[in-house]
Amino acid sequence: MNTQPAERPDRLACETVHARESLILAPYAMHSARSAGRRYREPEHPYRSPFARDRDRIVHSAAFRRLSGKTQVFTGNLGDYHRTRLTHTMEVASIARTIGRTLRLNEDLIEALALAHDVGHPPFGHAGEDILDGCLHGKGGFNHNRQALRVFELLETRYAAFPGLNLSLEVLQSQAARAHKEAPRHPPLLEAQVVDAADSVAYTTHDADDALELGLLELEEMLQWPMWNEAAGRVRRRCSGLTRAQLRRAVVHQLIDWQVGDLVDTGRQRLAPYVETAAGSQTQQNVRLAPSTDVAEQKAALENLLYQRVYRHPSVLAVRQRAQSALRAMYQALLAEPDRLPAKFRGRAAEDGSARAVSDYLAGMTDRFAVRAFVHRFPEHARDWPGETGVIE
Ligand code: MG
Repeated sequence: MNTQPAERPDRLACETVHARESLILAPYAMHSARSAGRRYREPEHPYRSPFARDRDRIVHSAAFRRLSGKTQVFTGNLGDYHRTRLTHTMEVASIARTIGRTLRLNEDLIEALALAHDVGHPPFGHAGEDILDGCLHGKGGFNHNRQALRVFELLETRYAAFPGLNLSLEVLQSQAARAHKEAPRHPPLLEAQVVDAADSVAYTTHDADDALELGLLELEEMLQWPMWNEAAGRVRRRCSGLTRAQLRRAVVHQLIDWQVGDLVDTGRQRLAPYVETAAGSQTQQNVRLAPSTDVAEQKAALENLLYQRVYRHPSVLAVRQRAQSALRAMYQALLAEPDRLPAKFRGRAAEDGSARAVSDYLAGMTDRFAVRAFVHRFPEHARDWPGETGVIE
């Protein structure tokens, strides 16, 4: 009996990245054959697409690894269940790939953008971002989306031939569009829109899940909100006799599945007129991928609840205050004595000024590194600091 697999007629066509993409991707997707390339020219890789190569460069960067030690919303002292910036990033990539594959978009590009999207976050989440932005007031400010571009273009030093990671221009432009959401220089690619939507699905759902686990919210309170109530109803119709913990986790899964299904349905409707078109550039400019009006309204209410009850919770605010006082003190001390910066950042100070170099140094730190640096390298400022007992870790 012949056990050899049958020869597939498209085998030869699948032998190159571009041919494989032309078989799999919709015409409106960002095909790598249409990429504008990289700032520093490089030969194409024999079997990885340009965007798969971008993804690999991001994963192998120091800034990406450090996401494991950076706060998403809750710092380590509150427990060990909740998301870090890295696990949030992995969840965004997972959700975005599901949506992108279903809409036949470029999954390699989506994965690269998702893994890149929070690389510019400083330690201590938005608390750290706010303090650096205040320190750089009148000097360009600080924003994690813009910082990611500095990481990709300047601060990563892994390759001899060029500064940064020399990512494809589509990745850099998509990140720039995140940084300038009000007036993007380029309309966001569909792949970038999918990552934005997946980020929003991930954080609204998982921040609530984390807050419930940490006892900052009660399940009964969440179930009073229409979106959680509706999701719980769907779960209960499928399974009965669930414990509170089982119900909570099932509701979280249901909420993600519901929102992803909604994005896929609305995306399919909006992209339907373009399925048969030959070129994708017009579609990339004209279609907006977003939740349906009903889901968007319910989600906005949930985001408001999270803001009021979780992001402003006294436990979160107390950590925020300690983190901010440490970062501010380090910023001021290093600005007064830039010679205390590591050599790499003294070099950046010569190029971009001391304020920006100090902010680059501080933004690259993990939460733990920042606390230790503050306590051990700046004892004169840390003496009366309430986090010195280690409570912030
Ligand atoms: Mg995010």
